Amino acid sequence: MREKLEKLFRGRQGMDELSKLLFWCGVGGFALALVLPGALRVLLTAFSTMLLALAFLRAFSRDLPQREAENLLLLRRREKRKRERAAAKDRRTHRREYKYFKCPGCGTWLRVPRGKGKIHINCRCGYTLYRRT
Ligand SMILES: [Zn+2]
Repeated sequence: MREKLEKLFRGRQGMDELSKLLFWCGVGGFALALVLPGALRVLLTAFSTMLLALAFLRAFSRDLPQREAENLLLLRRREKRKRERAAAKDRRTHRREYKYFKCPGCGTWLRVPRGKGKIHINCRCGYTLYRRT
């Protein structure tokens, strides 16, 4: 049995993170469809079927570089979200000592000490903000 499985997956992508995500979204979609009325249920069931089909198509795909690239996109996005969440938590922790501004030029968070009155804040990108701290 184990050998047969190994043979089946040889040279194929297998369940990577993206396929797992598609799979569980599909399963979740089916579960949600059970409690939805009529047309919504049909729509969600069709969509969930597509997600599951996609998950298995990816798992059995032999185009490894392409599947790897797709998976990497997901992993990078997760990593980015994780970093942003950590940074937001950091800002919350220090919000009594510092005031934070988002640069309108480049979107970077700028940190300045509180209680300095109205000051000019220079961003690395060359943008200058005039804000009350
Ligand atoms: Zn900037």
